[in-house]
Amino acid sequence: LLQIEHMKKSFDGVEILKDISLSVREGEVVSIIGPSGSGKSTLLRCATMLETMDGGTLSYLSEKAAYEENGRCIYAPKAKLKEIHKNFGLVFQNFNLFPHYSVMKNITDAPVVVDKVPKKEAEERAEKLLAQLGLSDKADAYPCQLSGGQQQRVSIARALALQPKILFFDEPTSALDPELTGEVLKVIKELAREHMTMIIVTHEMQFARELSDRIIFMEQGIIQAEGTPEEIFHCENERVREFIGKFQ
Ligand code: ATP
Ligand code: MG
Repeated sequence: LLQIEHMKKSFDGVEILKDISLSVREGEVVSIIGPSGSGKSTLLRCATMLETMDGGTLSYLSEKAAYEENGRCIYAPKAKLKEIHKNFGLVFQNFNLFPHYSVMKNITDAPVVVDKVPKKEAEERAEKLLAQLGLSDKADAYPCQLSGGQQQRVSIARALALQPKILFFDEPTSALDPELTGEVLKVIKELAREHMTMIIVTHEMQFARELSDRIIFMEQGIIQAEGTPEEIFHCENERVREFIGKFQ
């Protein structure tokens, strides 16, 4: 479904991503762990084209974009970029909801404006998502009237409303109080059970272990280790052991 080959990215002459290659199959849940500053968010931002890459290729199914050294996109024609964008949704650490929109409008805005889905259909879809995420009574609320956990569930609903093939999460619970973390993790687990393809950057080790088909350990801009949860949690690699040990 997603294939990244030789992805590179520098900021101000400092190489942040050094030759990252990664592929994700349909229905797979991949967690990315690693120390702060190792490039996890940068990897997600490049994979979702919020950032250009300085080299490498990015393919979603048959849609491909290639980049050269100076960050110029040398392959994907403009019309294709929209097709590529349709494949993924992104959920951030800080929810990023529109504060002046109701929950309903936050969820339906992009499908109606970008995908030209009829408003009524978008609202029906949103109602289903809200019910699924336990938020049926919040459609008319504004983000400031919701708890952090509820806001994060709304932002998951907003991402799902565009019917992506793959969902990216960047530390979806790190801005939440511990008692609210569980409700968001539960929703993500539910999605995994429904075979949603997901890439999740997280510091929740136990969650990553339970949920992931594969865990990737990143450090200093490279993938240091990769394997099933059992392989990673019993990994011989000293750096991985030390990192995981901090959470136990
Ligand atoms: P964390 O666990 O703290 O979220 P991370 O693994 O997500 O860390 P990144 O956010 O990808 O790390 O950042 C990796 C490095 O890239 C950091 O040293 C950061 O300062 C640098 N960096 C990220 N974005 C930019 C930017 N837009 N301009 C300059 N430097 C950046
Ligand atoms: Mg980050």
